[in-house]
Amino acid sequence: MKTKTKVCIVGGGPAGIVLGYLLGRCGIDVLVLESQDDFDRDFRGDTLHAGVMEIFDSIGLADEILKLPHHKIKTMSAGGVDLIDFSWLKTPFPYVTMMAQSVFLSHFAEKAKSFPNFQIKMKAPVRELIRDSKGNVTGVTYRQDNEIHEVEAELVVACDGRGSRVRKEAGLEIDPVTDLMEVLWFRLPRHQTDQRYGQSGIITGGRVPLIVLERPNHYQIACVIKPGTYSELRAEGIEHFQNEIGKAAPDFLERARNTLTDWKSIAFLHVQGGRLATWHPPGLLLIGDAAHIMTPVGGVGINYAIWDAVETANQLVPVLRAGKPIEESHLAEIQALREPSTRRMQTIQKFAGRRLLEFLSQDTGAAFKIPTALKLILAIPGLRSILPRIIALGGKRTRCHLSKFFISQ
Ligand SMILES: Cc1cc2nc3c(=O)[nH]c(=O)nc-3n(C[C@H](O)[C@H](O)[C@H](O)COP(=O)(O)OP(=O)(O)OC[C@H]3O[C@@H](n4cnc5c(N)ncnc54)[C@H](O)[C@@H]3O)c2cc1C
Repeated sequence: MKTKTKVCIVGGGPAGIVLGYLLGRCGIDVLVLESQDDFDRDFRGDTLHAGVMEIFDSIGLADEILKLPHHKIKTMSAGGVDLIDFSWLKTPFPYVTMMAQSVFLSHFAEKAKSFPNFQIKMKAPVRELIRDSKGNVTGVTYRQDNEIHEVEAELVVACDGRGSRVRKEAGLEIDPVTDLMEVLWFRLPRHQTDQRYGQSGIITGGRVPLIVLERPNHYQIACVIKPGTYSELRAEGIEHFQNEIGKAAPDFLERARNTLTDWKSIAFLHVQGGRLATWHPPGLLLIGDAAHIMTPVGGVGINYAIWDAVETANQLVPVLRAGKPIEESHLAEIQALREPSTRRMQTIQKFAGRRLLEFLSQDTGAAFKIPTALKLILAIPGLRSILPRIIALGGKRTRCHLSKFFISQ
């Protein structure tokens, strides 16, 4: 089966769904292909920062998004120190909106379905790129219902995340930026009476620092381990790991014993931040993690993916609405606009991640500590707003310039 569209988006994560929504709302023919049958991804995080909420506000969506189940966190802390205090930001949203991605993405996808030019196909994994005789990308193939389908598109946008199939098919390779991190990723139940409600952060009481994200009914927890020690840890037994969690956070001990009863309840992930040298081979654009893999440090990757999507729509919509072809220069402009802040954030992720790995490799058995120099820097009034600005706004704000193109519904 063969279909034709202007823009074919591969992947319905934050980058793909927001880009699809914006193009659909501007009356551009767009097809999103998502490999899974829902939007529930554990390995993504839930953090919507102020810079993203400001964009949603500017297109009339912030109020309805804030009516969906969420909670707000005002600080990200480590070892009892408020490392990042969002209340320093001059914004109507001086907090992180913690919202399950399944809720956020389903809401956007449902709204987008009301635009006549928007289409989404779930359970439609993309397999290959289609190219013309000059090697330019002209479409994709995907599998659905045991059949192979073809899509012809003026532009294919890869939003298929850090393991991007499209990137591999295009023969592109990520240049690593950060060190390789090995992460254990698991859930523990959350009780409404918990003292820590309203604060996500790094718990540093024990030998293994725990990065904790609050969700409505559970904590999503990342535990970064010393690279190469996963099999050693497993050999020590699950009880040993439960006890390590209890040393870091005594109120988690009982929950770890009841919930993490075997290693199947704990996912083991490898994460290494990096980026592509070029995001736009002919006929193709890669954005979000497909172009630049963000590590979990700072909880920012979703936001960087959404800012990429907004800037992509800003550049493409005026061209497509004028009936002009998309040129290489338009795609180069998207990379030029988005790459500097991504580089800056990845540099922060590199040094923060390295500090953590250095601590883990010392293996002294001592608890993780925030460096005194960093604590002093954070006490200086002019400096303490810099980190929240980079995390929450991406440094310089990205804005959506599309209101004049929105179709009436
Ligand atoms: C353990 C972990 C924790 C993290 N925590 C946070 C956090 O708290 N906050 C934060 O902001 N960021 C976090 N990040 C980073 C964040 O998850 C990513 O930066 C972000 O999800 C990138 O969004 P994306 O839309 O580019 O890609 P993704 O979110 O990866 O979405 C890609 C989509 O493409 C689909 N797909 C894949 N292959 C195909 C295919 N062949 N065909 C069709 N569809 C396909 C996938 O199913 C998926 O829906 C974390 C990352 C990791 C690894």
